[in-house]
Amino acid sequence: MAFDPAHLDRTAHEHAAALRAGDYTATALTEATLERLRQQEHLNAYITLTEDLALRQAQEADARLRVGEGGPLTGVPVGVKDLLSTRDVRTTAGSRMLEDFTPVLDCTVVERLNAAGAVTVGKTNLDEFAMGSSTEHSAFGPTRNPWGRDGQGNLDRVPGGSSGGSAATVAARGVPLSLGTDTGGSIRQPAALCGVLGMKPTYGRVSRFGVVAFASSLEQVGPIGRDAEDVADLLQAIAGQDQMDSTTAPVPVPDFKERFARGLDGLRVGVPAEFFGEGLDPAVRQPVEAAIDAMEAQGATIVRDIALPSVRAALPVYYIIAPSEASANLARYDGVKYGFAVTDGLSAEDEMARTRGEGFGAEVKRRVMLGTYALSAGYYDAYYLKAQKVRTVIRGEFEAALEQCDVIVSPTSPNTAFRFAEKLDDPYAMYLNDLYTIPVNIAGNPGLSIPCGFADGLPVGLQLVGRPFEEATLLGVAHAYEAIADWNRQAPPPVGTQG
Ligand code: GLN
Repeated sequence: MAFDPAHLDRTAHEHAAALRAGDYTATALTEATLERLRQQEHLNAYITLTEDLALRQAQEADARLRVGEGGPLTGVPVGVKDLLSTRDVRTTAGSRMLEDFTPVLDCTVVERLNAAGAVTVGKTNLDEFAMGSSTEHSAFGPTRNPWGRDGQGNLDRVPGGSSGGSAATVAARGVPLSLGTDTGGSIRQPAALCGVLGMKPTYGRVSRFGVVAFASSLEQVGPIGRDAEDVADLLQAIAGQDQMDSTTAPVPVPDFKERFARGLDGLRVGVPAEFFGEGLDPAVRQPVEAAIDAMEAQGATIVRDIALPSVRAALPVYYIIAPSEASANLARYDGVKYGFAVTDGLSAEDEMARTRGEGFGAEVKRRVMLGTYALSAGYYDAYYLKAQKVRTVIRGEFEAALEQCDVIVSPTSPNTAFRFAEKLDDPYAMYLNDLYTIPVNIAGNPGLSIPCGFADGLPVGLQLVGRPFEEATLLGVAHAYEAIADWNRQAPPPVGTQG
């Protein structure tokens, strides 16, 4: 039977139900998905489309579905950030340095996706080595946000970053689900700017084995989707301890939908003044405040006297710790072991300098220099050690605040999607995009961005922050909120080849 392309607007759980009912096959869904992704090439959401692999996986999914074995992701198309190693599929990290790098292993998260029967359609675009907030720092060109057009109807806004490709393709109804990584906001901020949901799980919830490392003590892989149920299903598939990553926590994985029936009655919602201060665009504040009012109307108690005074130091702390870890993690790209290499230099030192000089982009070089400086003798105590101490203070403040409330809410980003090149020459303006997301990585808690309205026609995200390993609480709140305000159902105008 013919597959109706209108079905591509469905969520993953709607697809799963239709696949199990035999309304269409995973192969038909995959073929139609690939066709739509080709039509949406103009978004530049993917660095690599894996059409043959996807069709093979779809056939396997159909075989499982035929014998009644399908789970919630079996046969469902998923986009994978090109920071996650994929066996026999090149993994670029958005960098010239890894332009021709093809891993011999799947990362643990992709292995788990495969075990769940998902169909991986391609590797999504990102800022080089996940450093950025706009996906403009990709060696493969920027991704376009399907929302926001100039006077001529051209897409003129960034999708956020660094998981911009993953957020844009979900927002444009290219795929229902994707994976991103979040070191300082790179799942939540692009989710907010593209009008979809994105979760950074608790540090230690999801394996980082096989994920190209940027700042190892801060980052997590997480789901991007169009409703709480889909996000919960994808998290369910990838979460849990992994013997290949000693930083995964030995804590049980709950049913992430266990709070879906509970609603908002009796929920204590903390609203910290520190997240509503200077720098917040008033047009963003308005829908965020309206969302808080809507939660109160559903029986939530708003707690305004929680204090997170040290989050004002989170951005400086992050820009010591993250570049320090990055400078160590990126030392391996030396032109000897793997990746891009200049081999016609005058000496080994010259070859290494030219390999790194030509292989890395400007933002990556800036981070390596910042980190090398912060870690050098004499500055280590003054910068790195001090930053670690402030990190402990910030973590303690979150812990105390989350004794007074069950969830903290804030805007996800202080602004909506900005125009291309608007912040490219001003790193500090770019860094400020993550003002509200970075503290959560510093503390290690889970964070979820959900759509909560629009400002001047562009999506606005509400950030929910919970206690460590209480992702289920955030997903329950998101699910209850969707029932009263279905902003997540708003679709951008269709993206054609001209788009
Ligand atoms: N935008 C932040 C940075 O540039 C966070 C990136 C991320 O979360 N990977 O470092």
